[in-house]
Amino acid sequence: MDAMQPLTLIVGPCAAESAGQMDAVASSLGAAVRGIGDGVSIVLRAGLWKPRSRPDSFQGAGADGLPWLTAAAQAMGVPAATEVATPEHLITAYEAGIRHFWIGARTTSNPFMVETLAAAEIADRTAVTWYVKNPTSPDIELWCGAIERLRQAGYEHVAAIHRGFALGEHSASAYRNAPVWSVPIELKRRYPALPVLTDASHIAGQAVLVADVAHQAMRIGMDGLMIEVHPHPAEALSDAGQQLTPEQLQSVLETMIADRCADRHETPAADEHSALAVLREQIDETDDELWALISRRMQIVRQIGAYKRAKNLPVLQTARYDEILSRRMAWAAGQGIDPQAAKQIMDIIHEQSVLAQT
Ligand code: PEP
Ligand code: MN
Repeated sequence: MDAMQPLTLIVGPCAAESAGQMDAVASSLGAAVRGIGDGVSIVLRAGLWKPRSRPDSFQGAGADGLPWLTAAAQAMGVPAATEVATPEHLITAYEAGIRHFWIGARTTSNPFMVETLAAAEIADRTAVTWYVKNPTSPDIELWCGAIERLRQAGYEHVAAIHRGFALGEHSASAYRNAPVWSVPIELKRRYPALPVLTDASHIAGQAVLVADVAHQAMRIGMDGLMIEVHPHPAEALSDAGQQLTPEQLQSVLETMIADRCADRHETPAADEHSALAVLREQIDETDDELWALISRRMQIVRQIGAYKRAKNLPVLQTARYDEILSRRMAWAAGQGIDPQAAKQIMDIIHEQSVLAQT
């Protein structure tokens, strides 16, 4: 295997709250990441302008917090990153010496905002690194659009951050944000050279679940992590429940180093005799069978549709679907398959069946 490819680790509090808090961040977090070793680039994060859903919650320290953040980053010897949503944020932070910026999920969702940010006048675009968070809904085109708008504006260093999606009751996930891993996986398929990081904190939503998400991200082969860390999480002014203490971060980092994939961008050599090639052949055969079954199911569905039409029966029969669904979910649980995942698959199949009958 090739040498370890570098990972990016963006750590720090949800928000810069005071000069004292950022001093404490610099010393405690600095100590926690000091021994992490080669191949990991560390960036210190802290939100200054916080996009909060409600106007009565902490909105961030704004430009007052810039000197706290830059001083903490300097003390740690790492670059500082903050979220920007308007050209004014970007220019103010750039002039204070910040060169790493993330675009938050709510901003990525708005192409006008991204366009305005991309067009903002700063002295040297090549010195800047952008991290584009996914939009709040699993719309990959919005995510790609934001990345492309920055690239077209002459920004060369653009990365993505997967922070999960707000699916509400459609989510099968125990986390705050549904990961929907298929979306960042599709992003990596479209842009093989684009670094894609996982924001384990905003996905997890609870400190105890952060390690779990970080583990999944590393095993999948993501290019780094964003993790919120606060010297005293219980006292944090925003996202208190999901921030780790610097000590908790240390144990997540041990997992991260142990779980990381050495060679994330290479496909293993196509050696016919390798165990992987044999297993992949089995997968292809199984998929052939699976799709033949799906096609057979759709043929039966069309016959049922013709029958219902002839008898003037409605296509949707909820009692029947209830029965199919509960049977499949119970069966899945017995097979060690997440019943909610089974429900999602069944919902897609059922929706297609309903449409085929109309
Ligand atoms: C954040 O990183 O603090 C943040 C607000 O994230 P998101 O845009 O992912 O909600
Ligand atoms: Mn946060």
